[in-house]
Amino acid sequence: MKETKTLWDAVVELTTGVIVDLDAPLNDEMVSGQIPVSICSASLVGVGGTYPRGHGNYISTRCNKTGTIYSIVNLSYEDLTDAIRLGVITDDTIEADIYDAGDKLKVAFVTDKRLPAKCLEPEWWYNERSQFRSAITRKKYNISEDICLCEHPAAVSAAVHFGRYNYNEVPGSVVKYGKCIECQKEYRTVHTLQKDN
Ligand SMILES: [Zn+2]
Repeated sequence: MKETKTLWDAVVELTTGVIVDLDAPLNDEMVSGQIPVSICSASLVGVGGTYPRGHGNYISTRCNKTGTIYSIVNLSYEDLTDAIRLGVITDDTIEADIYDAGDKLKVAFVTDKRLPAKCLEPEWWYNERSQFRSAITRKKYNISEDICLCEHPAAVSAAVHFGRYNYNEVPGSVVKYGKCIECQKEYRTVHTLQKDN
């Protein structure tokens, strides 16, 4: 399973989409509220499995009244559309922690209790979504301020941003180089690539 996730990590690095104002001031304030379920953009990677998957394509949704875009970090296109199709979600909105990312752009961590916990496991941290990684992860795992994110076993994968992949260094493996987003400690991991079959 780990290998699949590694390949997925590499894919999402290449398929980021939403353009945001990177100069917009950071606002760590979070509000809990309702976000729309109408999907306005999604990545396009083939995804198998059945609901609830806990993985899949990333999505943004849009409020048609205000035009605000919600960039979702932890619920896949596949699981959201299945939840609607199966009647798990019957409203136009779902509950989420909402972070302000600029003019008409929010980052959303879905918390809606109607969705099985597995649906809300994935975390996609890249580009515009990454600026709230620390705040979201600390809240999710209830991590105290006196330890670094990367010192917490459940949070280390969210704490370390892998910005460089090397497919030649170790044959049959991908070597990932990253840094902790908080303390800047450097990380290097080696993952065996799955053979096609
Ligand atoms: Zn750290």
